[in-house]
Amino acid sequence: MAIHDLTVPVHPGMPVWPKDPGVSLPLARSLARGDDTNVTRIEMGAHTGTHIDAPFHFKPDGTGIDQVPLETLIGLCRVFDLTDIPGHIDRAAVERCDLRGVTRALFKTRNSQRWARAETAFDPQFIAIVADGAQLLVERGMKLVGVDYLSVEPFGSKQHPVHHILLGANVTVIEGLNLSAVAPGDYELIAMPLRLRGADGSPARVVLRKLGT
Ligand SMILES: [Zn+2]
Repeated sequence: MAIHDLTVPVHPGMPVWPKDPGVSLPLARSLARGDDTNVTRIEMGAHTGTHIDAPFHFKPDGTGIDQVPLETLIGLCRVFDLTDIPGHIDRAAVERCDLRGVTRALFKTRNSQRWARAETAFDPQFIAIVADGAQLLVERGMKLVGVDYLSVEPFGSKQHPVHHILLGANVTVIEGLNLSAVAPGDYELIAMPLRLRGADGSPARVVLRKLGT
């Protein structure tokens, strides 16, 4: 069975969004220290690595990650190769993508090479979606959109229009995908955030299964 793991490894040396909590995975109980088990304490922001945003991330009355339906998180998905675009994913870039017949779209850009290279520092020069691109994705009926760096929105945005357009239209957003080893085409997506009650997001294990396997 051909399964592509799009999840970046979670570890203290990974890049995290500026001012977000860092990753720390200390042993709260330790066999080496004489405890009867190893038990790791998980310390990280909810938007660490490959993760999913919930409406509560930007809306005070928005729903939490536990309310994102499994029907959205699992199903037919199309991967688009935008590794050659010079700038952000704008309306023209989205127009290049044949979105007919799908409601889930993942965009592979040059960002994915950052994960392939195992970069450790956050780089604000990543490729994201801009407002007119997000608007077209909503108009085309997308229910889920995935990008390959830590935000769907360009760095330094003040009003966060892209998050508001997508989350406001109930589009589920996956960020931090590593699509470097995946060819464009149709797959079954399986994206599993933790069931954190009311939370603004959650790290997720995200995989693609080749159709028909
Ligand atoms: Zn996020």
